[in-house]
Amino acid sequence: MTDESITRRTALFAAGAVGLGAATAAAAASPPPVDTGTIAADKLTFPPNVASTEVQPAPPPNPAPQDERVGFAVIGLGKLATENILPAFAQSKHAKPVALVSGSPDKMALIARQYGIAANSCYAYADMARLRDNPAVQAVYVVTPNALHRRDVLAAAAAGKHVLCEKPMATSSREARDMVAACARANVKLMIAYRMQYQPHAREAIRLARGGALGDVVLMDMVNNQNQGDPGQWRQKRALAGGGSLPDVGLYCLNTSRAILGEEPVAVTASSWTPAGDPRFAEVEDNVAFTLHFPSGAMSNCLTSYSTHELRRLKLLGSTGWLEIENAFAYDGQRLRIAKLVDGRNEVTERTMPAKNQFAVELDHFAGCVKTGTPPRTPGEEGVQDHVVMEAIYAAAKTGRRVDLPRVAKRDAFRGPEPEAEG
Ligand code: NAD
Repeated sequence: MTDESITRRTALFAAGAVGLGAATAAAAASPPPVDTGTIAADKLTFPPNVASTEVQPAPPPNPAPQDERVGFAVIGLGKLATENILPAFAQSKHAKPVALVSGSPDKMALIARQYGIAANSCYAYADMARLRDNPAVQAVYVVTPNALHRRDVLAAAAAGKHVLCEKPMATSSREARDMVAACARANVKLMIAYRMQYQPHAREAIRLARGGALGDVVLMDMVNNQNQGDPGQWRQKRALAGGGSLPDVGLYCLNTSRAILGEEPVAVTASSWTPAGDPRFAEVEDNVAFTLHFPSGAMSNCLTSYSTHELRRLKLLGSTGWLEIENAFAYDGQRLRIAKLVDGRNEVTERTMPAKNQFAVELDHFAGCVKTGTPPRTPGEEGVQDHVVMEAIYAAAKTGRRVDLPRVAKRDAFRGPEPEAEG
């Protein structure tokens, strides 16, 4: 910095100080504090450092102290558990990993070291009953292949532990009902990990749709696709997966369509197409197109596929506006845009939302339910209903006919209370 610029800055500062109030001038003149931040009720906050014209950054997460968090055992150490769920505990405020269950001792020993889990809190599948004797474990997170969810949920319930279970809940509505009954008998909570009902953009879409921001929501349009990899994976085996694209990725379209208005479909129509000769689809379906008919007259058109390039889109078409979420069903990258008439012109605006790790939000919701005794937003009954509707979709695709479903009058009939707004 030159002498000239120092002089100029000093002059500007002096000129400014004259025009300011005495207190402001004193604050401007005094050196900044060595450390900032205020602690109240065990929460740390900072004064704003950007003008009120700017989006204010989120405050520090203020996670619960480690000894007040709900301890989880993670059952099944595959891709989702190790790539997404275990890392998400670091962003969770109320949950912590305290035990592991796996069929691979080497993998489990490595992950236990990575996450600070005691060797005596690592179990083989056959030893899950011993979870009962581990008081650090209050809940389990079942992340095994679909057909094993029933076995693992029943084992956890028998050990007296609350259960968070990955989607799809099971491979049939019958299995899903068994799981609900077992958890009710054991007096433990059961939540299905439907992350779209916790993801901030999807929650905002639900809020806007239900609040009338789009007028009457008449049509929904949802696509969730991903091109399957090499043949031989459990997702391509009917006995382990229960089906193909529908229960794996199409389920997001189904579950989110049901959650948007809180209505249950009264009928479904569907068609399914699977190319001959592709070894990936020897046992499970490739493409499914299905339409859900809701009692208000709203319809949701859904497409799911195991052989086309990834597309995860959601669109709600209302009488006075539309809304879309790009990357709606992805782990991140969501963009929410709303279109409506403003001053006689069509205007499309983007609503930005603070980035949140969906898996951490979901873990915290369930941990909160365990701590406070409240039912989860997406309990086992929510998973049973998806299996009932998927069975109707398969029947409609097979016969080419519309399949009627029992009319459910109540909104959010299978859901618990809305999750609290994330602080
Ligand atoms: P994965 O194949 O990567 O992991 C499955 C784990 O289960 C592996 O550790 C495997 O060793 C173990 N396992 C135990 N018994 C097995 C058996 N008999 N056959 C095969 N594996 C066995 O699968 P993933 O992608 O982690 O999926 C696990 C669950 O999570 C599935 O229910 C899936 O639908 C669900 N999932 C959910 C999301 C989501 O976004 N919520 C994303 C991916 C997967």
